[in-house]
Amino acid sequence: MEKAALRAGRRPEEVRLVGAIKGVDVDRIAEAVESGLEIVGENYVQEALRKREVLGDRVRWHMIGHLQRNKARHAVGLFEMIHSVDSLKLAQELQKRAAKEGREVGVLLQVNLSGEETKSGVAPEGVQELAEAISEMPNLRLKGLMTMPPYFEDPDGARPYFQALRRLRDELQRRGLPVEELSMGMSADFEVAIEEGATLVRVGTAIFGQRRP
Ligand SMILES: *Cc1c(COP(=O)(O)O)cnc(C)c1O
Repeated sequence: MEKAALRAGRRPEEVRLVGAIKGVDVDRIAEAVESGLEIVGENYVQEALRKREVLGDRVRWHMIGHLQRNKARHAVGLFEMIHSVDSLKLAQELQKRAAKEGREVGVLLQVNLSGEETKSGVAPEGVQELAEAISEMPNLRLKGLMTMPPYFEDPDGARPYFQALRRLRDELQRRGLPVEELSMGMSADFEVAIEEGATLVRVGTAIFGQRRP
C-alpha cells in the first residue's frame, strides 16, 4: 500500500486499510487487530453481530456487503460507515433508524460502473441525484463512493473503472458536495486502486488467506 501510494505521489496515510472479514474466524481477526488492523469490513449483519460480541470496540466496523432494508436497524447500531448504499429507499430507511437511535452514520454510494446485472450499485447516471438526496439527510454523512469492478486476470484491467469512480467523485465535489472517500481495490488490485486515488481499500484474502465458503 505504501509503495503504491508513493509511486503515485500520494502520502501513504491518505489510504486506509479495511480488513474484509467475511468467512474469517474471530481468533484470526483478533490476531490482525492486535497486529495493528484498525478497520474491519463485514458483509453480513448477523456475522457482524456475532463477531462484535467478541471484538467489541477494539476495532472500527464498516459494512461492505449488500445491505437489505430490513437490516437497517441493526446496521446503524453496528457500523460507523456503510459502503454499500445504492438506493434512495435504503438511504431513507437508514436515516429513519439512525434518527431513532440518535446516531450519525457515514455513507458511501456503491456505483455499478460495469452494468453487470449480478452486481449491486446505482448506475453512474443516478449518482448525482442520490448523492444530493442523501446529503440532505440529517443523520447520514455522505463521505464518498465505492465500486467493485468486474474480475480481470490482469489487475490493470480494473484501472479504467477506478478512474471512472474518481471522476464521478470529482464531479460531485465540483457541485459542492463534501465527498472525499473512494472505497476501491481488493486483494488482487489494491495497488492499482491506490495509484488511481483509493482512500479505502477492502482487502480480505491477502491478509487472512483463503476463507471458508
Ligand atoms: C470479500 C470482499 C472484499 C475482499 O476481497 P478479497 O479478494 O478477499 O480481498 C472486498 N470488498 C467486498 C465488498 C467483498 O465482499
